[in-house]
Amino acid sequence: MGRYVLAFAASYFFFALGFSATHLMAEESPFTFHVTQAFYTLGTVCVLWGAAERIHQRLFFGPIMLTYAVAAAVLAVAVVVSDDIAPRLYIVNTGYGVMFAGGALTLMHSRRRELFDVLVIWLFVASSINFFVRPVLTLLVEGSIATGDYRESIYYSVLNVALAIMSLVTAITLIGACVSDLVSSMRETSARDLLTGLRNRRAFENDLATMLDKAKVADVPVSLVVADIDHFKQVNDLWGHLAGDQAIAGFGKLIDGTVRSCDITGRIGGEEFCILVWNCDETEATRLADRIRVAFAQTKHESISSNIHLTASFGVTQWTGKESYRRLFGRADALLYRAKDGGRNRVEATNMPADHEPPAPAIAPVELQERRAKAG
Ligand code: GH3
Ligand code: MG
Ligand code: MG
Repeated sequence: MGRYVLAFAASYFFFALGFSATHLMAEESPFTFHVTQAFYTLGTVCVLWGAAERIHQRLFFGPIMLTYAVAAAVLAVAVVVSDDIAPRLYIVNTGYGVMFAGGALTLMHSRRRELFDVLVIWLFVASSINFFVRPVLTLLVEGSIATGDYRESIYYSVLNVALAIMSLVTAITLIGACVSDLVSSMRETSARDLLTGLRNRRAFENDLATMLDKAKVADVPVSLVVADIDHFKQVNDLWGHLAGDQAIAGFGKLIDGTVRSCDITGRIGGEEFCILVWNCDETEATRLADRIRVAFAQTKHESISSNIHLTASFGVTQWTGKESYRRLFGRADALLYRAKDGGRNRVEATNMPADHEPPAPAIAPVELQERRAKAG
Protein backbone atom coordinates (compact mmCIF):
# COMPACT_ATOMS: atom_id res chain seq x y z
CA MET A 1 0.00 0.00 0.00
CA GLY A 2 2.87 2.34 0.92
CA ARG A 3 3.42 3.95 -2.46
CA TYR A 4 -0.03 5.29 -3.10
CA VAL A 5 -0.72 6.33 0.48
CA LEU A 6 2.57 8.25 0.32
CA ALA A 7 1.45 9.84 -2.96
CA PHE A 8 -1.81 11.02 -1.34
CA ALA A 9 0.17 12.51 1.56
CA ALA A 10 2.64 14.17 -0.85
CA SER A 11 -0.29 15.59 -2.79
CA TYR A 12 -1.62 17.36 0.32
CA PHE A 13 1.88 18.61 1.10
CA PHE A 14 2.24 20.15 -2.38
CA PHE A 15 -1.26 21.67 -2.23
CA ALA A 16 -0.31 23.24 1.12
CA LEU A 17 2.87 24.69 -0.41
CA GLY A 18 0.85 25.97 -3.39
CA PHE A 19 -1.71 27.60 -1.14
CA SER A 20 1.03 29.12 1.05
CA ALA A 21 2.68 30.56 -2.08
CA THR A 22 -0.58 32.11 -3.27
CA HIS A 23 -1.27 33.56 0.17
CA LEU A 24 2.21 34.70 1.21
CA MET A 25 4.02 35.71 -1.99
CA ALA A 26 3.73 39.30 -3.19
CA GLU A 27 0.45 39.74 -5.07
CA GLU A 28 2.07 41.94 -7.66
CA SER A 29 4.85 39.48 -8.42
CA PRO A 30 4.52 37.94 -11.89
CA PHE A 31 5.98 34.72 -10.44
CA THR A 32 3.27 34.13 -7.84
CA PHE A 33 0.98 32.45 -10.34
CA HIS A 34 3.78 30.30 -11.78
CA VAL A 35 5.03 29.10 -8.39
CA THR A 36 1.47 28.36 -7.23
CA GLN A 37 0.64 26.54 -10.43
CA ALA A 38 3.79 24.41 -10.25
CA PHE A 39 2.98 23.26 -6.68
CA TYR A 40 -0.73 22.70 -7.42
CA THR A 41 0.19 20.69 -10.50
CA LEU A 42 2.62 18.54 -8.49
CA GLY A 43 -0.16 17.98 -5.93
CA THR A 44 -2.63 17.10 -8.68
CA VAL A 45 -0.20 14.67 -10.33
CA CYS A 46 0.46 12.98 -6.97
CA VAL A 47 -3.22 12.47 -6.12
CA LEU A 48 -4.03 11.26 -9.66
CA TRP A 49 -1.00 8.94 -9.72
CA GLY A 50 -1.88 7.55 -6.27
CA ALA A 51 -5.49 6.87 -7.24
CA ALA A 52 -4.37 5.13 -10.46
CA GLU A 53 -1.66 3.13 -8.68
CA ARG A 54 -4.20 2.04 -6.07
CA ILE A 55 -6.17 0.15 -8.71
CA HIS A 56 -3.11 -0.83 -10.78
CA GLN A 57 -3.89 1.52 -13.66
CA ARG A 58 -1.21 3.46 -15.54
CA LEU A 59 -1.63 7.21 -15.34
CA PHE A 60 -1.09 9.01 -18.64
CA PHE A 61 1.69 11.41 -17.68
CA GLY A 62 2.14 12.65 -21.26
CA PRO A 63 -1.29 14.36 -21.63
CA ILE A 64 -1.05 15.71 -18.06
CA MET A 65 2.36 17.24 -18.63
CA LEU A 66 1.16 18.62 -21.98
CA THR A 67 -1.83 20.23 -20.22
CA TYR A 68 0.54 21.77 -17.67
CA ALA A 69 2.97 22.98 -20.36
CA VAL A 70 0.16 24.58 -22.43
CA ALA A 71 -1.39 26.21 -19.33
CA ALA A 72 2.03 27.48 -18.16
CA ALA A 73 2.84 28.92 -21.61
CA VAL A 74 -0.52 30.70 -21.98
CA LEU A 75 -0.22 31.90 -18.38
CA ALA A 76 3.23 33.36 -19.09
CA VAL A 77 1.71 35.42 -21.92
CA ALA A 78 -1.32 36.45 -19.82
CA VAL A 79 0.86 37.62 -16.92
CA VAL A 80 2.84 39.89 -19.29
CA VAL A 81 0.02 41.31 -21.44
CA SER A 82 -2.63 42.06 -18.82
CA ASP A 83 -2.90 43.34 -15.28
CA ASP A 84 -6.30 41.66 -14.97
CA ILE A 85 -6.10 38.42 -13.01
CA ALA A 86 -9.32 36.91 -14.40
CA PRO A 87 -7.76 35.43 -17.59
CA ARG A 88 -5.00 33.84 -15.51
CA LEU A 89 -7.60 32.23 -13.28
CA TYR A 90 -9.46 30.78 -16.27
CA ILE A 91 -6.21 29.36 -17.66
CA VAL A 92 -5.00 27.61 -14.49
CA ASN A 93 -8.44 26.34 -13.46
CA THR A 94 -9.08 24.92 -16.93
CA GLY A 95 -5.72 23.12 -16.67
CA TYR A 96 -6.69 21.42 -13.39
CA GLY A 97 -10.17 20.67 -14.72
CA VAL A 98 -8.62 18.84 -17.69
CA MET A 99 -6.17 16.96 -15.43
CA PHE A 100 -8.90 15.76 -13.03
CA ALA A 101 -11.15 14.78 -15.96
CA GLY A 102 -8.18 12.78 -17.37
CA GLY A 103 -7.70 11.17 -13.94
CA ALA A 104 -11.39 10.18 -13.77
CA LEU A 105 -11.18 8.69 -17.29
CA THR A 106 -8.05 6.72 -16.33
CA LEU A 107 -9.86 5.24 -13.32
CA MET A 108 -12.93 4.40 -15.42
CA HIS A 109 -10.68 2.21 -17.61
CA SER A 110 -10.35 -0.21 -14.72
CA ARG A 111 -13.08 -2.78 -14.14
CA ARG A 112 -12.86 -2.31 -10.38
CA ARG A 113 -16.12 -0.88 -9.11
CA GLU A 114 -16.10 -1.37 -5.36
CA LEU A 115 -17.64 1.40 -3.22
CA PHE A 116 -14.44 3.43 -2.79
CA ASP A 117 -13.39 2.96 -6.44
CA VAL A 118 -16.67 4.56 -7.52
CA LEU A 119 -16.39 7.29 -4.86
CA VAL A 120 -12.87 8.27 -6.02
CA ILE A 121 -14.06 8.45 -9.66
CA TRP A 122 -16.96 10.73 -8.62
CA LEU A 123 -14.59 12.77 -6.52
CA PHE A 124 -12.38 13.47 -9.54
CA VAL A 125 -15.43 14.25 -11.68
CA ALA A 126 -16.65 16.69 -9.00
CA SER A 127 -13.16 18.26 -8.76
CA SER A 128 -13.05 18.65 -12.52
CA ILE A 129 -16.50 20.32 -12.60
CA ASN A 130 -15.42 22.56 -9.71
CA PHE A 131 -12.39 23.78 -11.67
CA PHE A 132 -14.40 24.37 -14.86
CA VAL A 133 -17.53 25.96 -13.39
CA ARG A 134 -16.51 27.86 -10.24
CA PRO A 135 -14.24 30.47 -11.94
CA VAL A 136 -16.85 31.19 -14.61
CA LEU A 137 -19.65 31.70 -12.09
CA THR A 138 -17.55 33.77 -9.68
CA LEU A 139 -16.01 35.95 -12.37
CA LEU A 140 -19.42 36.52 -13.97
CA VAL A 141 -20.35 38.31 -10.76
CA GLU A 142 -17.01 40.01 -10.22
CA GLY A 143 -15.99 40.90 -13.78
CA SER A 144 -12.29 41.59 -13.56
CA ILE A 145 -9.81 41.54 -10.67
CA ALA A 146 -6.87 43.90 -10.70
CA THR A 147 -3.46 42.75 -9.54
CA GLY A 148 -3.18 43.69 -5.88
CA ASP A 149 -6.89 43.15 -5.17
CA TYR A 150 -6.79 39.39 -5.53
CA ARG A 151 -6.87 38.43 -1.86
CA GLU A 152 -9.74 40.84 -1.24
CA SER A 153 -11.81 39.50 -4.13
CA ILE A 154 -15.04 37.48 -3.99
CA TYR A 155 -13.24 34.96 -6.17
CA TYR A 156 -10.58 34.37 -3.49
CA SER A 157 -13.17 33.82 -0.75
CA VAL A 158 -15.21 31.42 -2.86
CA LEU A 159 -12.03 29.60 -3.90
CA ASN A 160 -10.97 29.11 -0.29
CA VAL A 161 -14.36 27.79 0.79
CA ALA A 162 -14.54 25.49 -2.26
CA LEU A 163 -10.98 24.21 -1.75
CA ALA A 164 -11.56 23.65 1.96
CA ILE A 165 -14.69 21.58 1.26
CA MET A 166 -13.12 19.70 -1.66
CA SER A 167 -9.91 18.87 0.20
CA LEU A 168 -11.82 17.69 3.27
CA VAL A 169 -14.15 15.48 1.22
CA THR A 170 -11.16 14.20 -0.79
CA ALA A 171 -9.18 13.43 2.38
CA ILE A 172 -12.11 11.56 3.95
CA THR A 173 -12.67 9.55 0.76
CA LEU A 174 -8.98 8.72 0.27
CA ILE A 175 -8.50 7.74 3.91
CA GLY A 176 -11.65 5.60 3.63
CA ALA A 177 -10.24 3.96 0.49
CA CYS A 178 -6.90 3.25 2.21
CA VAL A 179 -8.57 1.77 5.32
CA SER A 180 -10.87 -0.36 3.15
CA ASP A 181 -7.82 -1.60 1.17
CA LEU A 182 -6.01 -2.42 4.40
CA VAL A 183 -8.99 -4.41 5.71
CA SER A 184 -9.30 -6.38 2.44
CA SER A 185 -5.57 -7.09 2.35
CA MET A 186 -5.67 -8.33 5.97
CA ARG A 187 -8.70 -10.47 5.17
CA GLU A 188 -6.88 -11.84 2.12
CA THR A 189 -3.71 -12.61 4.12
CA SER A 190 -5.64 -14.37 6.87
CA ALA A 191 -7.37 -16.53 4.24
CA ARG A 192 -4.09 -17.65 2.63
CA ASP A 193 -1.77 -20.47 3.57
CA LEU A 194 1.72 -18.96 3.86
CA LEU A 195 3.64 -21.90 2.37
CA THR A 196 1.64 -22.34 -0.85
CA GLY A 197 -0.33 -19.12 -1.23
CA LEU A 198 -3.50 -21.20 -1.64
CA ARG A 199 -6.55 -20.78 0.60
CA ASN A 200 -6.28 -22.23 4.07
CA ARG A 201 -8.89 -24.72 5.23
CA ARG A 202 -11.32 -22.18 6.70
CA ALA A 203 -11.21 -19.92 3.63
CA PHE A 204 -11.54 -22.93 1.31
CA GLU A 205 -14.63 -24.17 3.14
CA ASN A 206 -16.17 -20.67 3.12
CA ASP A 207 -15.59 -20.16 -0.60
CA LEU A 208 -16.73 -23.69 -1.32
CA ALA A 209 -20.06 -23.11 0.46
CA THR A 210 -20.57 -19.98 -1.67
CA MET A 211 -19.69 -21.88 -4.83
CA LEU A 212 -22.09 -24.73 -4.06
CA ASP A 213 -24.89 -22.17 -3.64
CA LYS A 214 -23.93 -20.58 -6.96
CA ALA A 215 -23.80 -23.98 -8.67
CA LYS A 216 -27.29 -24.78 -7.41
CA VAL A 217 -28.70 -21.53 -8.80
CA ALA A 218 -26.82 -21.80 -12.12
CA ASP A 219 -27.54 -25.56 -12.31
CA VAL A 220 -23.98 -26.50 -13.30
CA PRO A 221 -22.03 -29.58 -12.18
CA VAL A 222 -19.14 -29.15 -9.72
CA SER A 223 -16.66 -31.79 -8.59
CA LEU A 224 -14.35 -32.11 -5.63
CA VAL A 225 -10.78 -33.39 -5.87
CA VAL A 226 -8.92 -34.32 -2.68
CA ALA A 227 -5.18 -34.96 -2.98
CA ASP A 228 -2.55 -36.22 -0.55
CA ILE A 229 1.20 -36.66 -1.15
CA ASP A 230 2.31 -40.28 -0.77
CA HIS A 231 4.71 -41.45 1.92
CA PHE A 232 5.32 -37.91 3.01
CA LYS A 233 6.53 -38.77 6.50
CA GLN A 234 9.51 -40.46 4.86
CA VAL A 235 10.31 -37.29 2.91
CA ASN A 236 10.64 -35.43 6.19
CA ASP A 237 12.59 -38.26 7.79
CA LEU A 238 15.04 -38.64 4.90
CA TRP A 239 15.64 -35.05 3.77
CA GLY A 240 14.31 -32.94 6.63
CA HIS A 241 11.32 -30.67 7.14
CA LEU A 242 12.63 -27.89 4.92
CA ALA A 243 12.82 -30.26 1.96
CA GLY A 244 9.30 -31.43 2.89
CA ASP A 245 8.07 -27.83 2.93
CA GLN A 246 9.58 -27.21 -0.50
CA ALA A 247 7.81 -30.30 -1.87
CA ILE A 248 4.48 -29.09 -0.40
CA ALA A 249 5.02 -25.64 -1.93
CA GLY A 250 5.85 -27.25 -5.30
CA PHE A 251 2.68 -29.33 -5.22
CA GLY A 252 0.61 -26.24 -4.36
CA LYS A 253 2.18 -24.29 -7.23
CA LEU A 254 1.50 -27.13 -9.64
CA ILE A 255 -2.18 -27.29 -8.59
CA ASP A 256 -2.53 -23.53 -8.81
CA GLY A 257 -0.97 -23.48 -12.27
CA THR A 258 -3.20 -26.28 -13.57
CA VAL A 259 -6.67 -25.16 -12.51
CA ARG A 260 -8.72 -22.32 -14.00
CA SER A 261 -9.35 -19.06 -12.15
CA CYS A 262 -12.99 -20.05 -11.60
CA ASP A 263 -11.96 -23.17 -9.63
CA ILE A 264 -11.28 -23.05 -5.88
CA THR A 265 -8.10 -24.50 -4.43
CA GLY A 266 -6.97 -24.89 -0.84
CA ARG A 267 -4.37 -26.55 1.36
CA ILE A 268 -6.61 -28.22 3.89
CA GLY A 269 -3.98 -30.09 5.90
CA GLY A 270 -0.23 -30.77 6.08
CA GLU A 271 0.21 -32.24 2.59
CA GLU A 272 -3.47 -32.48 1.71
CA PHE A 273 -5.06 -30.29 -0.92
CA CYS A 274 -8.57 -29.77 -2.29
CA ILE A 275 -9.86 -28.44 -5.60
CA LEU A 276 -13.48 -27.61 -6.24
CA VAL A 277 -13.80 -27.68 -10.02
CA TRP A 278 -16.48 -25.38 -11.37
CA ASN A 279 -18.79 -26.49 -14.20
CA CYS A 280 -17.10 -29.87 -14.40
CA ASP A 281 -18.47 -33.42 -14.12
CA GLU A 282 -16.67 -36.29 -12.46
CA THR A 283 -15.12 -37.64 -15.68
CA GLU A 284 -13.49 -34.31 -16.53
CA ALA A 285 -12.41 -33.74 -12.93
CA THR A 286 -10.80 -37.22 -12.94
CA ARG A 287 -8.83 -36.25 -16.05
CA LEU A 288 -7.74 -33.01 -14.39
CA ALA A 289 -6.60 -34.92 -11.27
CA ASP A 290 -4.70 -37.39 -13.42
CA ARG A 291 -2.93 -34.55 -15.26
CA ILE A 292 -1.79 -33.17 -11.91
CA ARG A 293 -0.77 -36.67 -10.76
CA VAL A 294 1.41 -37.24 -13.86
CA ALA A 295 2.97 -33.76 -13.69
CA PHE A 296 3.76 -34.17 -9.98
CA ALA A 297 5.37 -37.57 -10.51
CA GLN A 298 7.69 -35.92 -13.06
CA THR A 299 8.57 -32.93 -10.89
CA LYS A 300 12.10 -32.57 -9.54
CA HIS A 301 12.30 -31.22 -6.01
CA GLU A 302 14.99 -29.06 -4.52
CA SER A 303 16.83 -30.77 -1.63
CA ILE A 304 15.44 -34.21 -2.54
CA SER A 305 17.65 -36.75 -4.34
CA SER A 306 17.15 -36.17 -8.05
CA ASN A 307 16.47 -39.86 -8.71
CA ILE A 308 13.49 -39.86 -6.31
CA HIS A 309 10.17 -38.72 -7.67
CA LEU A 310 7.36 -38.03 -5.24
CA THR A 311 3.80 -39.06 -6.05
CA ALA A 312 0.33 -38.18 -4.84
CA SER A 313 -3.04 -39.94 -4.58
CA PHE A 314 -6.40 -38.42 -5.47
CA GLY A 315 -10.08 -38.94 -4.68
CA VAL A 316 -12.58 -37.37 -7.09
CA THR A 317 -16.34 -37.10 -6.93
CA GLN A 318 -19.15 -34.97 -8.32
CA TRP A 319 -21.46 -33.03 -6.05
CA THR A 320 -24.96 -34.51 -6.08
CA GLY A 321 -26.53 -31.04 -5.89
CA LYS A 322 -28.21 -31.82 -2.59
CA GLU A 323 -25.60 -33.14 -0.17
CA SER A 324 -23.75 -31.01 2.39
CA TYR A 325 -20.07 -30.13 2.04
CA ARG A 326 -19.28 -32.61 4.83
CA ARG A 327 -20.87 -35.49 2.94
CA LEU A 328 -19.23 -34.48 -0.32
CA PHE A 329 -15.84 -34.23 1.37
CA GLY A 330 -16.42 -37.54 3.17
CA ARG A 331 -17.08 -39.31 -0.14
CA ALA A 332 -14.01 -37.76 -1.83
CA ASP A 333 -11.84 -38.63 1.19
CA ALA A 334 -13.05 -42.25 1.15
CA LEU A 335 -12.03 -42.40 -2.53
CA LEU A 336 -8.62 -40.96 -1.63
CA TYR A 337 -8.18 -43.78 0.87
CA ARG A 338 -9.17 -46.25 -1.82
CA ALA A 339 -6.37 -44.78 -3.96
CA LYS A 340 -3.94 -45.17 -1.06
CA ASP A 341 -5.04 -48.78 -0.48
CA GLY A 342 -4.80 -49.49 -4.21
CA GLY A 343 -1.07 -48.73 -4.19
CA ARG A 344 -0.98 -44.88 -4.17
CA ASN A 345 0.07 -42.67 -7.14
CA ARG A 346 -3.43 -43.00 -8.57
CA VAL A 347 -6.81 -41.32 -8.95
CA GLU A 348 -10.00 -42.94 -7.69
CA ALA A 349 -13.47 -41.66 -8.60
CA THR A 350 -16.97 -42.92 -7.84
CA ASN A 351 -17.20 -44.21 -11.42
CA MET A 352 -13.81 -44.75 -12.99
CA PRO A 353 -13.83 -44.58 -16.83
CA ALA A 354 -13.94 -48.10 -18.36
CA ASP A 355 -10.74 -47.51 -20.33
CA HIS A 356 -8.79 -46.33 -17.29
CA GLU A 357 -5.56 -48.21 -16.70
CA PRO A 358 -4.21 -47.78 -13.17
CA PRO A 359 -0.61 -46.51 -13.13
CA ALA A 360 2.22 -48.35 -11.41
CA PRO A 361 1.95 -48.21 -7.61
CA ALA A 362 4.15 -45.70 -5.78
CA ILE A 363 7.34 -47.00 -4.25
CA ALA A 364 8.14 -45.51 -0.88
CA PRO A 365 11.32 -43.35 -0.92
CA VAL A 366 12.98 -45.50 1.80
CA GLU A 367 12.31 -48.68 -0.15
CA LEU A 368 13.54 -47.07 -3.37
CA GLN A 369 16.76 -45.98 -1.72
CA GLU A 370 17.32 -49.46 -0.27
CA ARG A 371 16.74 -51.05 -3.68
CA ARG A 372 19.17 -48.63 -5.31
CA ALA A 373 21.78 -49.24 -2.58
CA LYS A 374 21.49 -53.02 -3.10
CA ALA A 375 21.83 -52.62 -6.85
CA GLY A 376 25.02 -50.68 -6.11
P1 GH3 B 1 0.38 -41.65 2.91
O1 GH3 B 1 0.98 -42.03 1.63
O2 GH3 B 1 -0.48 -42.68 3.49
O3 GH3 B 1 -0.31 -40.32 2.83
O4 GH3 B 1 1.60 -41.49 3.90
P2 GH3 B 1 2.14 -40.21 4.58
O5 GH3 B 1 3.49 -40.51 5.14
O6 GH3 B 1 2.08 -39.07 3.66
O7 GH3 B 1 1.12 -40.07 5.76
P3 GH3 B 1 0.35 -38.85 6.26
O8 GH3 B 1 -0.36 -38.21 5.13
O9 GH3 B 1 -0.50 -39.28 7.41
O10 GH3 B 1 1.52 -37.96 6.83
C1 GH3 B 1 1.62 -36.62 6.66
C2 GH3 B 1 2.93 -36.14 7.21
O11 GH3 B 1 3.18 -34.85 6.68
C3 GH3 B 1 2.93 -35.98 8.69
C4 GH3 B 1 3.75 -34.75 8.97
O12 GH3 B 1 4.99 -35.10 9.49
C5 GH3 B 1 3.99 -34.15 7.61
N1 GH3 B 1 3.62 -32.74 7.53
C6 GH3 B 1 2.42 -32.20 7.83
N2 GH3 B 1 2.46 -30.85 7.62
C7 GH3 B 1 3.72 -30.55 7.20
C8 GH3 B 1 4.38 -29.34 6.83
O13 GH3 B 1 3.82 -28.25 6.83
N3 GH3 B 1 5.68 -29.44 6.45
C9 GH3 B 1 6.35 -30.63 6.43
N4 GH3 B 1 7.61 -30.64 6.05
N5 GH3 B 1 5.74 -31.78 6.78
C10 GH3 B 1 4.46 -31.76 7.15
MG1 MG C 1 0.34 -38.35 2.76
MG1 MG D 1 -1.91 -36.65 4.83
